Amino acid sequence: MSRKLITLIMLISLVVTLAMSGCGQQSNQSAAKTIKVGSETTFPPFEFQDDQTKDYVGFDVDLVKAIGKQLGCEIEFVSMGFDGLIPALESKQIDVAASGMTITPERSEKVTFSQPYYKSGLSVITKKTDTTINSFNDLAGKRLAVQIGTTSAETAKKIPTATVREFNSPSEAFLELSAGGADAVINDLPVNEYYLSQGGNKDFKLVGEVINAEDYGLAINKNNPELAEKINTALTELKKNGEYDKIYEKWFGKKPQ
Ligand code: GLN
Repeated sequence: MSRKLITLIMLISLVVTLAMSGCGQQSNQSAAKTIKVGSETTFPPFEFQDDQTKDYVGFDVDLVKAIGKQLGCEIEFVSMGFDGLIPALESKQIDVAASGMTITPERSEKVTFSQPYYKSGLSVITKKTDTTINSFNDLAGKRLAVQIGTTSAETAKKIPTATVREFNSPSEAFLELSAGGADAVINDLPVNEYYLSQGGNKDFKLVGEVINAEDYGLAINKNNPELAEKINTALTELKKNGEYDKIYEKWFGKKPQ
């Protein structure tokens, strides 16, 4: 074999290796083009299971798929509890967490967040018949239901003399409210709004002000700065080329502010 041919073969294999190493953490070659994305999949409209197809759908799901397309990577969703996402990133069980996750200083010590991709906040839901809770301050001494491991749970625990019960999903928290075991649910505003719009407004209402402005970010393993950079570049591109706006309008029925 000529030297030229050998050099060419070496170059081609280098390019192939580089192309395949861009996505997840996996060392085996067939999986190297797949990004494993962890998500708590009962958080509509960000991530939830379609009743009929059983596929995972939602704003985060579409956004991550669009990022995968930009990067030439397959996306594989892994459903897990919200409080298990950061440990799963740390143990490299997943490459990315896309789960309406609020960027906080404590979490930033453990994972790398992408640039913010959604402006959120917390809000309170009560039974329509409740007249005692009209603002966040009225929650003192009340029984609160929240999702475990979330910023809502953190916030609830700081309310004086309130009793806080933590559930695996927001829907379980709503059930507790419905059953009379809680006086209020604290949860992310867009998820509360979606819940009310899907029939929840028959028995429940949003009360008071929006507490805590929060930004959602995609969380990435701290030891994978290459992937974090690629995701940020892809997000910037999607915001520029109109794809982000399209996905936003599909799920929220309005343009991003
Ligand atoms: N945004 C909230 C948090 O990060 C809740 C996220 C969720 O329940 N999926 O804590």
